[in-house]
Amino acid sequence: MVQSGILTAQGHDITFIDAIASRMSAEHAIDRIRAAKPDAVLALTGDASWSNDVRFLRRLGAAGLTPQLILSGDVPRFEAQRAFTDIPDAQAILTDFTDLGAAAFWANDPQPPGIIDRTGTEHPATTRRWSSPSARHDLIAMNAYRLPFHAGQPFASVLVNYGCPFSCTFCNTGELGYKLRDIGEAIEELRLVHSLGYRAVYIRDATANGQRTHWLSFCRTLAQQNLDLQWNVFCTFRPFDAQLAHAMADAGCRIVQFGFETASESLRGETGKPFSNEAAQAAVRYCHEAGIRVCGHFVLGLPGQDEREILETATFARKLDLDYASFNLATARPGTHLREHTQSGQLPGGDASADGFVDGFTDLSQQALKRLRRQAIVRFYLRPRPIRTIVDGFGPGTWRHLATTARAFSRAF
Ligand code: SF4
Repeated sequence: MVQSGILTAQGHDITFIDAIASRMSAEHAIDRIRAAKPDAVLALTGDASWSNDVRFLRRLGAAGLTPQLILSGDVPRFEAQRAFTDIPDAQAILTDFTDLGAAAFWANDPQPPGIIDRTGTEHPATTRRWSSPSARHDLIAMNAYRLPFHAGQPFASVLVNYGCPFSCTFCNTGELGYKLRDIGEAIEELRLVHSLGYRAVYIRDATANGQRTHWLSFCRTLAQQNLDLQWNVFCTFRPFDAQLAHAMADAGCRIVQFGFETASESLRGETGKPFSNEAAQAAVRYCHEAGIRVCGHFVLGLPGQDEREILETATFARKLDLDYASFNLATARPGTHLREHTQSGQLPGGDASADGFVDGFTDLSQQALKRLRRQAIVRFYLRPRPIRTIVDGFGPGTWRHLATTARAFSRAF
């Protein structure tokens, strides 16, 4: 998405295809690509869909439709050799999607920033801040994406800051570094999505308040624009304070997502967030006082977690007085410490979509973990506040909102 703006500014004509969001069959996607007659292809792949991505890109290659193929995504980024082996047509890997590497590679630049070439040489990204024109939101199908927030309204995705300053054992985003974007440029992109008719935005930062002063300044500048946009975003719950919560609310923030991960402070510290439960409670309170709803994210099945700890985590989620909660099973994504852990310990492996890693870290079986997750979800949502949160969202997009919420539930059962 970010690359659509960068490549357009570099003089390329763009065809944007999100076959998954548009529910296209492989045949339909290939027909669309053939019709576009591409001179070059940039493909986003991922661990959760890797086996399908490989099969599709090989099929595309056999049809002669992968000229100058560059891969993006976590498998190529962290396991380049595997990606080049599995997808022989790949010419390069884009390791930093905010950089000019893809355009530079296609222009035969010998040092394309943020690129790994087929020799395995990594050309580092060049900038500590990132700057790019707005993404081509006009190419995106407005109704293709779903979130259980904003009463089912269509939303645009906008990135303000790239990467994350933390490093959690189960997440690879911290391995990307952290780059701030020029505030004026980010506001310009929000103006653009507003002009296209969006009234809801998913600010896609992994940790928006990774540098507090920059984030506060962004929120204050946005509030002055009177853009009538409501948005959700991920933040770290420490440091997080009342001043920040109020500035975010004034700028249109309606939902903050925090990764609390577990009820155990020591386990949370071991995974990379040495923050107390008291800080978690305070962050939720600051948000509610500012009129912002809170979605908490938890990880079940981390090394060191037993059934008792998972039950305590589910209780903690209820005690935090959250509006939404997401209970996720631990997986060993490429580039994470957990991946190293599974590989060095020869624990069971597989891709996240096949749940191959979910029972690799604890003595609990995959079935037990899934049962505990179902319990946590049911006990969290069958209470007044979360039900009120869902019902409060009723409005013009009610059916869409309900369908999105039901689909989110059904994935866990
Ligand atoms: S889990 Fe969140 S805070 Fe931790 S590295 Fe990933 S994005 Fe950063």
